[in-house]
Formats: sequence, C-alpha cells, structure tokens
Amino acid sequence: MIFTNPSGAPELACDQCGCRWFDRMSNTCYECAAEVTPENLAEIKLALEAFEAHRAAQANALSGEKKGLEP
Ligand SMILES: [Zn+2]
Repeated sequence: MIFTNPSGAPELACDQCGCRWFDRMSNTCYECAAEVTPENLAEIKLALEAFEAHRAAQANALSGEKKGLEP
C-alpha cells in the first residue's frame, strides 16, 4: 500500500501490516517479513513521480506569482 507522510510525500508501506520499515537488501518487511512485490515498487515509483511533478508545478506557480508582484 502507499502511505502519505505528513509532508505529503508518498511512502511505501507493507500490504500485510502497514508498517513502513523494509529491509532494502532483501526487499522484505521488518515487522512481518512480507515480500515487497514488483507491483508495490511500481506503485511507489509512480506515486513518487506524481508527487515530484506536483511539487515542481507548485514551485513554478509560486515563482510565477512572485514575478507578478514585482514592479
Ligand atoms: Zn509488514
């Protein structure tokens, strides 16, 4: 599953127990040893890309507003 942290960034969470601690070497959950599936990895990759795109769009919008305020 995909969990969204308080800053709005997506994080991969375990499908079985919902925790966000994974053993990066073996791609398994620390809590319940559930395997991180390729589907999970594809899902978090897409979520991160969408988040980055959204953040970049927001940054552009903000810099545009600032320019508009300058004399
Ligand atoms: Zn787990």
